[in-house]
Amino acid sequence: MEYISTRNSKKVFEFKDVFIKGLADDGGLFIPRSLHKIDINELKNLEYTELAKKIIYPFIGNFMTKGDLAQIINKSYSVFRKKNVVELVKVGDRSVLELFHGPTLAFKDIAMQLLGNFYEYYLTNENKKLNIVVATSGDTGAAAIDAIKGKKNVNIFVLHPHNKVSSVQRKLMTTGKEKNVFNIAVDGNFDDCQNLVKTMFADKNFSNDIKMSGVNSINWARIIAQSVYYFYSYFLIEDNKQPINFSVPTGNFGDVYAGYLAKKMGLPINKLIIATNQNDILHRAISNGNYEVEKVHETISPSMDIQIASNFERLLYDLNNGDDLEIVEIMKNISDNGKYIIDDKKLNLINKNFLSSRMSEEEVLKTINTIYKKYNIILDPHSAIGYGAFDKVNLNGNNIVLATAHPCKFPDAIKKAIDLKEDLPKELMFVMNEEEKFDIIDNDVNKIKKHIRERI
Ligand SMILES: *Cc1c(COP(=O)(O)O)cnc(C)c1O
Repeated sequence: MEYISTRNSKKVFEFKDVFIKGLADDGGLFIPRSLHKIDINELKNLEYTELAKKIIYPFIGNFMTKGDLAQIINKSYSVFRKKNVVELVKVGDRSVLELFHGPTLAFKDIAMQLLGNFYEYYLTNENKKLNIVVATSGDTGAAAIDAIKGKKNVNIFVLHPHNKVSSVQRKLMTTGKEKNVFNIAVDGNFDDCQNLVKTMFADKNFSNDIKMSGVNSINWARIIAQSVYYFYSYFLIEDNKQPINFSVPTGNFGDVYAGYLAKKMGLPINKLIIATNQNDILHRAISNGNYEVEKVHETISPSMDIQIASNFERLLYDLNNGDDLEIVEIMKNISDNGKYIIDDKKLNLINKNFLSSRMSEEEVLKTINTIYKKYNIILDPHSAIGYGAFDKVNLNGNNIVLATAHPCKFPDAIKKAIDLKEDLPKELMFVMNEEEKFDIIDNDVNKIKKHIRERI
């Protein structure tokens, strides 16, 4: 498969470049030059790992053989607490797709475990050394650390916003003992962390010098790994005469884009709902065309406290019929003026595939409370936003909610909603008493660069 950047459709890349670079040198995002259709009848009744092999293989070109990929997928998913990685449970009139049975209790493990093993494979075969630098709003960091810790020839530096992630999220990042893991708490918010990483990448002197690599949600390898559970859950729905809709708690637009990718490959999804918290730039964009960056609000669903939804550029590329120059223009506008107005024609195109919703903090707490009382199930705040979205947009058919994190990751919010403490799964209890290791650094790219250089 050949890849291009959303900002230059002439230059062609292979999967290895796409995976290792994360972001294209021109600042654009990698996408396949053309996409194949999948015959979904061939994918029914497969176990999760078998399905993953079939879906992922066409994307990786000659990066590895089918046999090597099969081994890596088996290894990556053997660390999950469920045999088939995810679980679909009925909660009221909708189905909840639990994606949090991995080592760090959020859906990000599903892609990240695979990436960790891709790195190991690549670095062993090419005898190279890399430094991964990644920004996190809480869950990516832990998932990336778990996937990379202890692996040879690779260090990982994780930037999280200081005091803006939950205590459990932080402990899952900062209690590891491996020498190749470095946690940085930035005095700022998630968008600041993301901007620091982008600035370091853009500084070619620095990024080439330290052999910098990225695993943020723009990494294409993450997107393809995430598209697998849309297929998997689709096949678990028995009554597939009715349309199937997914509601996706959304921040950076990575997870919901993976659903869109599945649809483009031929999975008959009706609508994808972009479920946001108060940081509702995508809801405003999709309901009235106003993609306008505002201040980030801190919420009880911190993994979605994001204004700039990086992966949205991939959708913009499709909406503009692959006009790369137009994308350069739009992205420059967003970066200069913090704003992009989507015209009605494009909005109609978006609404063919996507709807959106927004939830206030009170509504999130109320949803957690109601669902607990009615069904004795505790949703984490992110998943509650996904669940509640189906009450805001009226869609008939089979409605699937992506449950993106385990409730124990957000103890304060759960306590507030139902006055209960949700424990960690017993395998993970120990992290609560481990010593934490992280450095607090100003929101200053030079200080961060210096810190990284001193440690590699
Ligand atoms: C990262 C994350 C999200 C948002 O996913 P995107 O791919 O950034 O849209 C939602 N919920 C949880 C729990 C997350 O960790």
